[in-house]
Amino acid sequence: MVKVVKFGGSSLASAEQFKKVGDIIRSEADRKYVVPSAPGKRNGADTKVTDMLYGCYALAEEGKDFTAALDKIRERYDEIITGLGLKTDLSGEFKTITENFKKKAGVQYAASRGEYLNGIIMADYLGFTFLDAAEVIIFDEDGNFLAEDTNVVLSKKLKELDNVVLPGFYGATRDGVVKTFSRGGSDITGSILARAAGADIYENWTDVSGFLVADPRIVKNPEVITTITYKELRELSYMGATVLHEDAIFPVRKSGIPINIRNTNRPEDPGTMIVENTCKQSDFTITGVAGKKGFVSINIEKDQMNSETGFGRRALEAFELSGISFEHMPSGIDTLSVFVHKPEFEGKEQQVLAAIHRLTAPDSVDIDSDVALIAVVGRSMKSNHGVAARIFAALAHNNINIKMIDQGSSELNIIIGVSNNDFDNAIKAIYDIFVTAKL
Ligand code: ASP
Repeated sequence: MVKVVKFGGSSLASAEQFKKVGDIIRSEADRKYVVPSAPGKRNGADTKVTDMLYGCYALAEEGKDFTAALDKIRERYDEIITGLGLKTDLSGEFKTITENFKKKAGVQYAASRGEYLNGIIMADYLGFTFLDAAEVIIFDEDGNFLAEDTNVVLSKKLKELDNVVLPGFYGATRDGVVKTFSRGGSDITGSILARAAGADIYENWTDVSGFLVADPRIVKNPEVITTITYKELRELSYMGATVLHEDAIFPVRKSGIPINIRNTNRPEDPGTMIVENTCKQSDFTITGVAGKKGFVSINIEKDQMNSETGFGRRALEAFELSGISFEHMPSGIDTLSVFVHKPEFEGKEQQVLAAIHRLTAPDSVDIDSDVALIAVVGRSMKSNHGVAARIFAALAHNNINIKMIDQGSSELNIIIGVSNNDFDNAIKAIYDIFVTAKL
């Protein structure tokens, strides 16, 4: 069995956290490949090393003195090194970084040093080989990640090595120019490594015990989702439930490798398994519920709309012409509603309305700018009857008016539109009926 383990910034924020990580890795010989993030926050008021690096490099770029800012970053690493009782000497590394900052080596180079330095310490601590991501994670000049080229180079390299620490978040072009993924990108490195190593599992260690059935800011102590499919995850992440970088899914999904979200501070918790497919039903009828505020619905009405060929196409063209993508489009006999993101729509509103009039000659168009969307997601909904009825009942009992309901054609989700003010209560009501009451 081969396991790739990725540790997030909070798991590596201090020597104390590093020790927990060391214990986790050493407890299983299968945990051969390690991807560290940069040290994150030690407490709420702390700053992530990556953000410190961005700040420090901004000074360098303006030609200002950045010594003090870099010293602060060095202190973070020295504290970890001393706390672990190591003798790792980063003087040479900091000298190089200083020179490169003066040469204005680029903001991506600067940000990447957080993972790079943490990787050196981690390799020293574990007695693993340090593999610089600049050698094996390949980008093109425009900063696009080259998945296939990387896979060839990385899998070949891994054959020569037994236990490896590969820093997350960055790589380089063939000419050695360092490039980073977007923020949180160490998740992607872990996934790429899992694919190249032909791993059996990709463990992603963070500070929560997995994906939660609902947002803990809305529902108190929500249950953890034990198993979720990639499709369900996409539905929930889209609605704002994020633990994992979206792009981290593709490399492992393609190779059929499951992801296990785990908690460094509670290693005994099984966490969440993210899988392509499973015969396991969800623990509750629903797998999760998530939502977002800030949608607008544009409701177009026209007598005999139903028999007018091409009406839908023309209505959507009005949005396409302004470069606006729509989220949902429920329709009735003579009505059609288009749901869009408010911030995207606002600036182009009049342009879109004019186009709707020009292209569809409607009887009326009205706008509802107070819409929150909630996605109730679950693979088990398909085989359970009365799911929609239970949602309706829960909302009705809580005096929540439903503005829209739309069942995805895969029967994986039911989308409900409510007023922004009702958003939290609607999520609570849905959670309660399916999870608390287990109905
Ligand atoms: N350190 C980077 C960030 O803060 C990447 C990561 O942690 O995954 O975004």
